[in-house]
Amino acid sequence: MKRKISLLGATGSIGQQTLAVAAEHPDIDIVSMGCHSDVAAMETAARRVQPQTVNVYRPSAYREMCERLADTNIQVTAGMDGMKAMVADDAVDMVVSGISGMIGIEPTLAALTAGKDIALANKETLVAAGDIVLATARCNGVIIYPVDSEHSAIFQCLHGRTDEEIESLILTASGGPFRCWTAKMLEHVTPEQALRHPNWSMGPKITVDSATLMNKGLEIIEAAKLFNMPEERIEVLVHPQSIIHSMVRFRDGAIMAQLGPGTMTGPIQYAIYRGVRHPLSMKRLDFAAMAKLTFETPDTKTFPALHLARTALRTGGTMPAVLNAANEIAVARFLAGRIAFPEIVATVERVMAAHRVGSAETLTDIMDAVRWVEEELGEKV
Ligand code: NDP
Ligand code: MG
Repeated sequence: MKRKISLLGATGSIGQQTLAVAAEHPDIDIVSMGCHSDVAAMETAARRVQPQTVNVYRPSAYREMCERLADTNIQVTAGMDGMKAMVADDAVDMVVSGISGMIGIEPTLAALTAGKDIALANKETLVAAGDIVLATARCNGVIIYPVDSEHSAIFQCLHGRTDEEIESLILTASGGPFRCWTAKMLEHVTPEQALRHPNWSMGPKITVDSATLMNKGLEIIEAAKLFNMPEERIEVLVHPQSIIHSMVRFRDGAIMAQLGPGTMTGPIQYAIYRGVRHPLSMKRLDFAAMAKLTFETPDTKTFPALHLARTALRTGGTMPAVLNAANEIAVARFLAGRIAFPEIVATVERVMAAHRVGSAETLTDIMDAVRWVEEELGEKV
């Protein structure tokens, strides 16, 4: 049976690793792929993969994409409408969402409504609109397979287990490039330093989130939604070597952990094959060569993002969407050299403090809260 995939964010880190997985398996067929505007990378990928459809979000880039692929039979579409039609197409049976940011909400809902399973890397979608996304999946009888390495690890550890057996989830965190730094040292961090992650090679947004520890905060909310777990039963443990990708503590005291090298191809493949293991050529762990695995409690005083995320999760309603939107804007400002590193999380904290929480039952509720954040910060997400 062919696995017919629509790949969002094909030109990014998750997208390229998804194409590497697909290249190893003749039964994985990438029928369509999307990007924002990187037409050069998309042309290279499209000529190799030969999908039926390519979607480019930005209108000006769309015209260039059409010219670049004029000598092929590949259909090129543009914008959000094109993206939604692409993922909902009959030719697709699963969507891999490697898009970055809460712009991923709409195509995810379109895919779920059309009955497509999702392999979801795009955590901002679950943070901002988790309850709506999960309810849409339930209503349409489709499954969301986690791709984020921690959530894939937990999903793997939970194989064959029931909810009643779980005591807590333990998310591991590398601690990022500034682990052990003081608040004073963080004042002068440059985008270049923040983009140098010790263990993982990822897109710029998530790499900065890893440096502020907001990534782990977003992952607490992501785990709460995916595994229906209250905030107080989600632990965070710093594990600088990033070998243990996460763990589950069971009610008899036993702990299951998932270990692997620092690549996303394993989690991506596990999601595409819906939890069934297939061969994969990634490098194997060599335990004898590993000096040691170490663990620390996170420094939440220097890195307050974890507290903010826990507060947003406990508060519920529109607060997680507000946290996410403020963070997306603040990270973009930092990367553009407009604010200092500690201002990222300080911005999120200020916006959350000023927010009057509302219910988040519909997508309109979420989008209204996001518009409010945009007005508050004078800038669009
Ligand atoms: P990248 O920045 O490397 O890639 C982002 C991708 O999304 C690019 O293909 C980009 O297109 C596309 N994109 C961005 N905006 C739009 C838009 N408006 N419309 C269509 N496409 C868009 O990010 P990553 O691959 O690192 O991360 C993707 C998601 O996966 C994030 O949510 C991240 O948190 C999550 N994730 C990533 C991990 C990793 O190892 N990279 C690990 C765990 C989770 P273009 O190139 O044209 O700009
Ligand atoms: Mg992760």
